[in-house]
Amino acid sequence: QAKAAGRHALCFFDPAMQARVMERASLEADLRQALADGLLRLFYQVQVDEEGQTTGVEALLRWEHPERGLVSPGVFIPVAEENGLIVPMGLWVLETACRQLAVWAAMPAAEHLTMAVNVSRDQFRAPDFVARLERILAVTGARPERLKLELTETLFLEDSEDTRDKMQRLKGLGIGFALDDFGTGYSSLAYLKRLPLDQLKIDQSFVRDLLDDPTDATIVTTIITLARSLELEVIAEGVESEEHRRWLAEQGCRAFQGYLFGRPVPVEELPLAAEVV
Ligand code: C2E
Ligand code: MG
Ligand code: MG
Ligand code: MG
Repeated sequence: QAKAAGRHALCFFDPAMQARVMERASLEADLRQALADGLLRLFYQVQVDEEGQTTGVEALLRWEHPERGLVSPGVFIPVAEENGLIVPMGLWVLETACRQLAVWAAMPAAEHLTMAVNVSRDQFRAPDFVARLERILAVTGARPERLKLELTETLFLEDSEDTRDKMQRLKGLGIGFALDDFGTGYSSLAYLKRLPLDQLKIDQSFVRDLLDDPTDATIVTTIITLARSLELEVIAEGVESEEHRRWLAEQGCRAFQGYLFGRPVPVEELPLAAEVV
């Protein structure tokens, strides 16, 4: 019987899967340690208006792993979301971003900048999220009018009074809301009417091929038109070429983010001094 069980187990032993499980476990442990040891960094990517002037930045997490080098958030955010680490990690991000906002508030060349911060669903759903953020604003002295939270449609999948209530309370403080990766989720459009959003972010997957793919082009123009009729701002992400920028501008898009204007960089590398006239 033991032999049968052994053979059975053997059938399902998959070294590749085993390796993935181990890899995952070590990533998780390392990530926990990284948060404790201060190995997380915020990079910033500029957002520009139709004249190419920087209006703000998006904060993007980076993990400086001692052996793996810079680990992309595409790899570790899903892990953090699964094990709950996203909640303390997200608070660290908000606090760091707000400290930076407060520093900029004292610099004439940077005083106008807005800061967009990505907030995961479970982070926003935490019962004390609003209280924590209020406290961060109080401690750092950042102006809430300069802060914009980037939410995704996954938060709106369930029609939740709690989400709307929280958004309204934060809105009351002056905080703005962008809907990130717009069009890639599965939720209905009804929430656009119900929730106090300020901006739609056109996902880079639609922007990438819009010059070659008529379907993507149609989706993008539809989002721009939708935003305009709902009186929402619209920003295109993943803008990599002047041709893309011009096409989007011709369709009525007034705000842009992408490698054409700058990659995410550490704060010292942001081209802010260049804007002092
Ligand atoms: P996102 O919020 O949609 O951020 C945009 C992503 O597109 C960033 O990837 C950015 O580096 C990349 N990007 C910007 N311009 C271009 C471009 O012109 N071309 C291309 N190909 N890519 C461009 P990144 O930094 O790797 O972040 C990936 C995702 O990880 C973010 O997508 C966001 O969902 C998540 N993330 C990053 N930082 C945080 C954070 O602090 N908290 C949470 N909850 N999620 C975060
Ligand atoms: Mg984002
Ligand atoms: Mg996005
Ligand atoms: Mg995206």
